[in-house]
Amino acid sequence: MKALLNIDYTYDFVAADGKLTAGEPAEKLHDYIMNTTREFIVNGDYTIFAIDAHEEHDQYHPETKLFPPHNIIGTDGRDLYGDLEALYQRNKDKNNVYYTDKTRYSAFQGTDVEQRLRARGIKELHLVGVCTDICILHTAIDAYNKGFDIVIHKNGVSSFNLDAHEVALQHFENSLGAKII
Ligand code: ZN
Repeated sequence: MKALLNIDYTYDFVAADGKLTAGEPAEKLHDYIMNTTREFIVNGDYTIFAIDAHEEHDQYHPETKLFPPHNIIGTDGRDLYGDLEALYQRNKDKNNVYYTDKTRYSAFQGTDVEQRLRARGIKELHLVGVCTDICILHTAIDAYNKGFDIVIHKNGVSSFNLDAHEVALQHFENSLGAKII
């Protein structure tokens, strides 16, 4: 079994008027992420949604100094973008679909993602979502250090910083041994 980590493809990160949007480059990923997610679910592979969750006025959170408020718990900004929300809702009761909040860039930080992957004997992790150079990168670095095999879907990741996106793609391949497909 392999796993798909579907990271932060939410309204706030993708929609034109999202609170911390990557905009058009992120919107363009929609159909690819939909198809890939559907494929993993239908094939019985493990599908994890790891989604940023912030409190509204959290002066102690390190991102508060760096970014405007985004993905605030209880707001529509945290909904998965476009048809992905409905796809998740239709499939959320399946035992190969899992949704977890995360409060840091990496999907491994403060979550039970690693335990769930280990319990299922999963070694191969596929990553899609935003942003390539922030949450995808930090998740990939943790995955590398934990000994997982990494597959980055280049049509399934993007960023509001396209130069940083390119540098991150090189880093995945050259320094983390990721397969880029
Ligand atoms: Zn955040």
